[in-house]
Amino acid sequence: MNEKKLQQYAELIVKQGIRVLKGEEVWINASVQNHHFATLIVEECYKVGARFVKVDWDNDETTHLNLKYATIAELGKVPPYQIAKLKYQTKKLPSRLYIDDSDPDAFKDINPMKIAKIQMKSYPKIKPYRDMIDGKYKWCIVAVPSLSWAKKVFPNLSDEEAMEKLWDAIFFTCRVKEEKTSENWDKHNAYLMEKRNLLKSLDLRYLEYKSSNGTNFKVELIKGMNWGAGVEKTTFGKEFSPNIPTEEVFTTPLRGTGDGLVVATKPLSYRGQLIEDFSIRFEKGHAVEVKARKGQKALEQMIKMDPNASMLGECALVPFTSPINQSNILFYNTLFDENAVCHLALGMGFKELLPDGDKLTPEQAMEKGVNDSMIHVDFMIGAADLEIVGESFNGKRTVLFKNGVWAI
Ligand code: ZN
Repeated sequence: MNEKKLQQYAELIVKQGIRVLKGEEVWINASVQNHHFATLIVEECYKVGARFVKVDWDNDETTHLNLKYATIAELGKVPPYQIAKLKYQTKKLPSRLYIDDSDPDAFKDINPMKIAKIQMKSYPKIKPYRDMIDGKYKWCIVAVPSLSWAKKVFPNLSDEEAMEKLWDAIFFTCRVKEEKTSENWDKHNAYLMEKRNLLKSLDLRYLEYKSSNGTNFKVELIKGMNWGAGVEKTTFGKEFSPNIPTEEVFTTPLRGTGDGLVVATKPLSYRGQLIEDFSIRFEKGHAVEVKARKGQKALEQMIKMDPNASMLGECALVPFTSPINQSNILFYNTLFDENAVCHLALGMGFKELLPDGDKLTPEQAMEKGVNDSMIHVDFMIGAADLEIVGESFNGKRTVLFKNGVWAI
């Protein structure tokens, strides 16, 4: 383990990710097996002036046992102490950091129906509080290796080698160097912002995707909608980078539009289950047919989670030459895989990308064309020969992507 890089990574997360400010309260979700890294982060938060840092410890094995033995009724409950915690969150708006190290296969022996039913039961009770804090607090998702995840990514290596390689891959894709990591990150952000502003200036109405694997898809965008990338701002104007790494420039398409076929170019790890070699056919914005060589059931279940789960919430542009794709590693983790190539997401859209969107309720945003759902699942469609053409509201056509990379 390169301690210098580890320290740079921790600083990157605290200073560029959640951007902890003096006097702030920070909540961290971490797993017990990565207590060392979580501890490092806690210290970094205090170093930059955090008022209080709380860690919620978790681990895949105990979650797996709960899913295996406890009933849906039990697991779907949202007990009063959790409600109290949610209420506290709506008032104090602590910054949140999620340190992900989950095993992509952790719940492969659990019936996807059970997991879906648990979420369907608990989500409506949690949603009002989630809506209340949406856009108002800073948050960030990052990842660190766990042995089970590292062995999934590098099955032929020894435990030690697999861990080392996954750390290296994370450092590489997050642009973590032994020094000047933060400066590198600023440069990268500036590049993403430039693309974002360019896309916005094109005033696009349609995106058309074509690639030789069968992807042939057209979707409509929302007039006046913004594009997001890199750094985001809360309602109160505080900046943060929600994802490290990040390579995407993204927007939300117009709800109820989207026709044609999209063919996935990477497997999807969805709630501890893998969906592989799949395609989705859309008609008038709805996923009407899904086909998967592996994980058919999980995919079918996913788009039925609620009435809006079969509609799109995101179109994201990522060049095929991104460091993640260059690394040639399949991470089985959306945070990395979604930043490898172009992707779409089923489910919830980003209402904050509408002008004054953070002041709208999810219902009001939906009237303007932003989908709302309990799911938001990214799946990758970027390919080496992917072409994306944008058409503006006054009919001007621009090639945005050619051979899988930016053409603008
Ligand atoms: Zn995305």
